[in-house]
Amino acid sequence: MNDLTCVIIGGGHVGLHSLKAIKEEIRGMANGRRIRFVLIDKQPGHMRKMLLFRPAVGQEEIMIPWTHYSFSEGVEFVQGKVTSVDSGGKQIQYEDAQGNHARMQYDLLVVAVGSIVRQPEPDRGGIALTDPQAAADIRERWRANLRKAAGETNPEERKRLMSIAVAGAGISGVETSAELALEMRKEASSLGLNPSDISVYLLSGQKRLFLEGPEKVGKRLDQVLSECGVKVLYNIKVMQAEAGAVKLSNGDLLPVGECIWTIGLIPNPALRSMGLPLTPDGQVLVDECYRVKGAPGVYSIGDCARIVDPENGKADLMRAGEGVLQADRLGKIVMADLEGRPAPVHKSASSILDFFCIGLGENRGFVWGGKWGLNMIITGKLGWKIRKLAWDKGSMLR
Ligand SMILES: Cc1cc2nc3c(=O)[nH]c(=O)nc-3n(C[C@H](O)[C@H](O)[C@H](O)COP(=O)(O)OP(=O)(O)OC[C@H]3O[C@@H](n4cnc5c(N)ncnc54)[C@H](O)[C@@H]3O)c2cc1C
Repeated sequence: MNDLTCVIIGGGHVGLHSLKAIKEEIRGMANGRRIRFVLIDKQPGHMRKMLLFRPAVGQEEIMIPWTHYSFSEGVEFVQGKVTSVDSGGKQIQYEDAQGNHARMQYDLLVVAVGSIVRQPEPDRGGIALTDPQAAADIRERWRANLRKAAGETNPEERKRLMSIAVAGAGISGVETSAELALEMRKEASSLGLNPSDISVYLLSGQKRLFLEGPEKVGKRLDQVLSECGVKVLYNIKVMQAEAGAVKLSNGDLLPVGECIWTIGLIPNPALRSMGLPLTPDGQVLVDECYRVKGAPGVYSIGDCARIVDPENGKADLMRAGEGVLQADRLGKIVMADLEGRPAPVHKSASSILDFFCIGLGENRGFVWGGKWGLNMIITGKLGWKIRKLAWDKGSMLR
């Protein structure tokens, strides 16, 4: 019998875990047929998206080559951007790294093309933390401002150059602002500036932080952020980032050297033309076993899919933590489907335990676990260790 081809589109946190889970579950053969694995991604390696803010504060490489992974043995890696899925003909169309159009047959297909970072309208100024290049540009801008500040004699202008606004206070805004406060202070000291003149403002359109958990956890996070040198402004949105200041929704002008947008994720817009069934928000429609509706042999998980727990109707969030659990289950689902057995059904992670980790710079972490109304908060070095472990696990480095 012919080999079966399993194609995984997207080698982000979830695609990578799916590859490993399916490979380990199948162990090379299913129903007497050998399985060939192909991972196709538009990038040359795995991008550690959860660490996107890192190149905005330091010079960290967040791209890992596929060959780094031991389970990559025997897997074919193709650099290409998938443009459409023909589920009737069981093939995908893609543009390779040289811009050539090509097709690839599949028997099993996992769509894990994820999300992109939401951008403000182009005329609103500032810079959005969208990709590693934008992150590097952000770093260049605040460092250039601090160099200017070192030569500035007007105290008000110096203070402005040493200030930065982060618009959007979800977890990525919190992590970005805390790491910025730490690194900007270090850089200020090395330039002979007073590090306590650094101001990092985190602007939240909400009345509190951390809407994912209880109010008191949000308050504790605010307290820890303030110890890190981040001032959170609530119920305020940035309307416009102009030269020298941001215009706020309450009419005030906040003088800052730069404005960074961290306003969340949206499902990958490339899905709109891929030919798969989508929700109005643009996520792939799947059943409780991640099978794409009306497309035999096609599964979709991670940020790009709308995944709902059939028991409580709760949809998973766009989080690597949730996507990785989906991927582990997908391995078992694919094997069960190949063998014609009943497959495991999705169960939301939060029905087991609510768990969030936040990094606030070297040796400073914030971890919250919640169950039955009980809250567990870990901060400081231990919180940081757990945070780092979660980042590494998300990218399969441990
Ligand atoms: C700054 C930041 C911090 C975050 N922090 C956390 C956190 O602390 N905890 C948490 O759980 N989550 C966090 N998230 C969310 C987390 O990053 C996402 O949930 C996770 O990346 C989803 O993984 P994914 O594999 O589904 O999608 P992605 O990571 O988006 O990966 C999609 C992959 O598909 C590839 N791709 C896209 N389109 C195509 C195409 N047409 N053809 C081929 N390949 C394609 C991409 O190159 C990419 O490799 C954070 C996100 C950001 C931006």
